[in-house]
Amino acid sequence: MPDTLYPWQEENWRSLQQLRSRLPHAILFYGPQGIGKTDFAESFAKSLLCEAPQADGHACGACIPCGWFAQYSHPDYRRVRPEILVEEAGSDDEDGEVAESPKPKGKGKAPSKDIRIDQIRALADFLNISTHRQGQRVILLHPAEALNRESSNALLKSLEEPPSNTVFLLVASNPGRLLPTILSRCRKFALTMPSQKDALAWLQKEGVQDAEMWLAEQGGAPLAALALSQTGSRAALDQLLAHLAKPGVDAALKTAESLQKEPVVDLVSWTQRWLYDLFSFKLSGRIRYYPGYRKQLSALAAQAETGRLLQALKAANERRAVAEHPLSARLFIEDMLLDYSQVFS
Ligand SMILES: [Zn+2]
Repeated sequence: MPDTLYPWQEENWRSLQQLRSRLPHAILFYGPQGIGKTDFAESFAKSLLCEAPQADGHACGACIPCGWFAQYSHPDYRRVRPEILVEEAGSDDEDGEVAESPKPKGKGKAPSKDIRIDQIRALADFLNISTHRQGQRVILLHPAEALNRESSNALLKSLEEPPSNTVFLLVASNPGRLLPTILSRCRKFALTMPSQKDALAWLQKEGVQDAEMWLAEQGGAPLAALALSQTGSRAALDQLLAHLAKPGVDAALKTAESLQKEPVVDLVSWTQRWLYDLFSFKLSGRIRYYPGYRKQLSALAAQAETGRLLQALKAANERRAVAEHPLSARLFIEDMLLDYSQVFS
């Protein structure tokens, strides 16, 4: 976890300090995906637990609680996140995790993408004993959209009657997917998208080649741009874009077959952005995500009716909502690409 904020978060940090004097029981940090919301919330958690915070609100980094926090072993801090994120993070930072119910071992069961009800129930002991350092008790939940109905309802009980000195920090990219009853009990705090200049400067410092292209493709979200630039999915993206630029029924089947091992969620997101660019180009001549494809986008926009494009965008948004668990990745992608080719027929 970074000890300092990302450069574009300084302003947000300053306004957050105003909440300190009368700290809400629950704060929901929300904003676009890939801008560092969880790191921001974690910096805040650390500063709440620090025994000698600095004048600007940052944790000192030198006291005992700060040391514990850095090791994820602060007794008054818990992180709650889906099992799948714990697995991705590896075993180096599993302390401070809410004790899980016995893991389904040996069944080959995929790690859960939800924050499950037993993870929320496991907080009960933590919430009922007094804090170790006579200070705050902090629970970070991310992403809050991973709360399902059951776990949301279990959490609601704690949000309705919060134990004293307890702060829940929730992080969400799509707050609209949270239960309204949860939303209404959180103080909402918006984290803003960095300017293109700040985001580019940061990516270049991180050593990303072609930073401008990655950033545009991720809609201006620098952490998402960095992540994609570091994974091998460039080839998949290029292949998908090449197909979208030259749609066709036969090509759709072939492309779906060769992309079936790629994360479906990414493929749908990229297609959504492509459709958005087509739509935006048709209406205003502007391209947000794929400026490198201006020629192809302009030719396709001329062939497509606005109404059909809108329909396709709507269908892509619906697909995105169910892309986490497709029964067959290949059929799912095939269906999406065939639908797409209809826009131009
Ligand atoms: Zn400290």
